[in-house]
Amino acid sequence: MKKLIALMLSAMLMLMSFSAVAAEKLVVGTNAEFPPFEYIGDDGTIQGFDADLIAAIMGKIGQEFEMNNMEFGSLVFALQNGQLDMVIAGMTISEERKQYVIFSDPYFEATQKILVQEGSATKAAQDITADMTIGVQEGTTGDMYATDNLPAKVERYNKALDAVLDLKNGRLDAVMVDAAPSEYLAKNVGGVVVLEENLSEEQYGIAMKKEDTQLQEKVNVALKELVESGEYDALYAKYFSVIESEAK
Ligand code: GLN
Repeated sequence: MKKLIALMLSAMLMLMSFSAVAAEKLVVGTNAEFPPFEYIGDDGTIQGFDADLIAAIMGKIGQEFEMNNMEFGSLVFALQNGQLDMVIAGMTISEERKQYVIFSDPYFEATQKILVQEGSATKAAQDITADMTIGVQEGTTGDMYATDNLPAKVERYNKALDAVLDLKNGRLDAVMVDAAPSEYLAKNVGGVVVLEENLSEEQYGIAMKKEDTQLQEKVNVALKELVESGEYDALYAKYFSVIESEAK
């Protein structure tokens, strides 16, 4: 009898610790310097398309989470060393990153854009020369594109905003950033414009630890449901309809 009670007790304890694991908050990393995908709102919290999307996905999965704001260049490493469980940061799915992490299905199409001062003679990537300096956010696909494909000297910043401010005050000749954030930054900073040319074809994905294939599956199912229910479109309209109608 004693044995049976001990057995039941240990079974109960095991069950309790299992449910404790399931209820544990997941830590989602981002870099809240990338409007409209992620930025710090007036109330000091992380807001934006990605913040809303991850909240909707976690709602569907029934998983509690908290956001952790860090430098973009640290996100993949923080996933690898267990500091983070997921990353949503307008992060492009790339072969290089896939060596270290796994991605959800794509949730957004993106491209790289060049920003210049208003009235600049630079109208396209081909006008960029070796004596110019182009600003990028360190560790981004814009950094990689500029480094690999443009003759200009590449100046790396922690924040794309700081690069755009340096472009405005003449310390840079151009800046390379993803399309949607470049429109936001140009509008907020003023005096700079986004060139029309699209320089890459990229897709954003939510990154997870290599071993978290079950979580990846749940995220993909939730994403699909959000698209099918129209919730994804509502979110898109919330953050992008304004920019698009202004660009026309
Ligand atoms: N999409 C780019 C990348 O993945 C930039 C992302 C960002 O700056 N948040 O590198």
